[in-house]
Amino acid sequence: MSANYIPHRLSAVEVDALRAKYQAERDRRIRPEGAAQYRRAAGEWGFYATDPYTPRAEREPVTDRVEAVVVGGGFGGLLAGARLRQAGVRDLRMIDEAGDFGGTWYWNRYPGIHCDIESTVYMPLLEEVGYVPQWRYAPGEEIRQHAIAIAKRFELYDDTLFHTRVTELRWDDGAGEWTVTTDRGDRFTSRYVVLSSGTLSQPKLPGIPGIEEFGGHTFHTSRWDYGYTGGDQTGGLHKLAGKKVAVVGTGATAIQIVPHLARDAEHLYVFQRTPSTVDVRDNRPIDDAFKASLQPGWQQERMDNFLTIVTGGHAETDLIADGWTATAKLQRQMLTGSVDSNLPAEEREYLDELADFRKMNEIRARVDEIVDDPATAELLKPWYRYMCKRPTFSDHYLQTFNRPDVTLVDTADTGGITRMTATSVVVGETAYDVDCVIFATGFEVGISGVVSGTLPVYGRGGMPLLGHWRNGPRTLHGFFSHGFPNLFHLGSLQNAAAVNFVHVLQEQATHIGALVAEAGKRGAARIEPSAEAEEGWIRVIRETAPDNFNFQAECTPGYYNGEGKPRPVNNSYGPGPVAFHDLLREWRAGGGFDEVM
Ligand code: NDP
Repeated sequence: MSANYIPHRLSAVEVDALRAKYQAERDRRIRPEGAAQYRRAAGEWGFYATDPYTPRAEREPVTDRVEAVVVGGGFGGLLAGARLRQAGVRDLRMIDEAGDFGGTWYWNRYPGIHCDIESTVYMPLLEEVGYVPQWRYAPGEEIRQHAIAIAKRFELYDDTLFHTRVTELRWDDGAGEWTVTTDRGDRFTSRYVVLSSGTLSQPKLPGIPGIEEFGGHTFHTSRWDYGYTGGDQTGGLHKLAGKKVAVVGTGATAIQIVPHLARDAEHLYVFQRTPSTVDVRDNRPIDDAFKASLQPGWQQERMDNFLTIVTGGHAETDLIADGWTATAKLQRQMLTGSVDSNLPAEEREYLDELADFRKMNEIRARVDEIVDDPATAELLKPWYRYMCKRPTFSDHYLQTFNRPDVTLVDTADTGGITRMTATSVVVGETAYDVDCVIFATGFEVGISGVVSGTLPVYGRGGMPLLGHWRNGPRTLHGFFSHGFPNLFHLGSLQNAAAVNFVHVLQEQATHIGALVAEAGKRGAARIEPSAEAEEGWIRVIRETAPDNFNFQAECTPGYYNGEGKPRPVNNSYGPGPVAFHDLLREWRAGGGFDEVM
């Protein structure tokens, strides 16, 4: 596509028309029940979430004592484990509900799985482990193997409890340690507890009437049934020959599986409610010249560079130079007006919106360029602001709709699929007979079990954490709370997140490791912020949190905005992750430890 395809300037009439179109498209997708439209993959639907990869082994309950326990074996937990080892913790126990390390990369093994953030900045601890990824956007299995490599490198397999869910944490002030209870009958104690249970881990199912009547085969993308489809993560789903397959959903997961299903099924029906943005991918192997050029510290440099650019900061060079950084730079340029200094004053007022319109026009133009049938192309065009939904990248997805054996079924007018019968998926009055329905319908958004209440935590004096947080989370820097010594949270909680979430987790894990190392040095039994320190941080969050309520409220529904019902309170640190990481470093260097131990 030529760069000139996008008009640099949009007229006021064009802007008004886009605003009206976005609102109309949002309004026809809003459902009054919001997130309640989904069904949990639990109870009678629990079979959608069982582990298809590792058999569950019986074992005796554990009743000993360790120095630290890390709940969660994804990259957050692995990074915490690595940093705790480096802080000198020997008795370290890792726990996960999965059968091995990897977190989301353990569960998600669908055909076509890749990470859409460049591997050199996404895959953590590459230099420590001594690995350089093979692909710019790594396949899921390469990432999962890297998770295992980290666990081996830092001896995190030594004392793991897999297929185990923590059911309660209770602080014993006399002993100065936590009692940890699990669903496998374990009851052991630990001085430190790190919680890193992930944000998008529990698969969810659409609340389609009649879903239970369907007599064909079904599964969720995060529990791929290769026994049914054949093949593996690289495709070759040979058992789908002669089968009619339905995919429900068109998010970041569906974008990756659809080309494979189309290739191997007799016919593929893609049930779409809201199209994703699908930008250029341009994946390629990482070449030897790049590998040879790497100097010590190279990964941190790339990670910092990427984080700076995607969060709107300025960097002299763009080391990653991909769809994420290009869009962020476009938005930054529009915001600072540096692209077009001749813009009239009234346009400067909505420069960020203009940048967004331009990006989305580009995304929509790409659909027209690739998809042959104009009616299908029209349906595949997203009409919302770029960050309303998770952006996606693919050089194969849109092309799939040019195949005669693929049908796009748009369900926006019917609010999704109308119902399912024993043999079909019905939209409006039209029934589509299928052998198999694959739910690419995403995950529940939980900040962690402690926030959702599935993991009760009792601190000093038996105080429930959710009682302490009855008016919202209360922490210092998002890590720890007054009355809950030696308990650390990893994830997005009163801190600053970014699209490369693993980078954010790495900084958090480094901070926790530094706290534990310092406590060891001082012989301090407790790491705990004062009530004043906690109150001070809440004030900072309140004063700096960006007010993006209106932006979210105007977005098309999805998990980013609580399915059209955004939370009125934003709990993030306004200056963003780069400033937050600086703040943590300065706190550590400037006597912060004295405040908490
Ligand atoms: P999403 O939540 O993004 O998508 C769910 C899809 O299901 C949406 O298209 C939704 O439509 C659709 N849907 C839900 N209910 C119905 C219904 N009743 N009828 C029709 N359609 C329905 O889930 P994903 O698994 O795709 O992605 C989840 C997240 O995982 C991503 O946002 C991303 O953060 C992460 N991910 C990251 C990848 C990476 O490379 N780093 C790759 C894949 C996923 P609607 O939009 O209308 O609600």
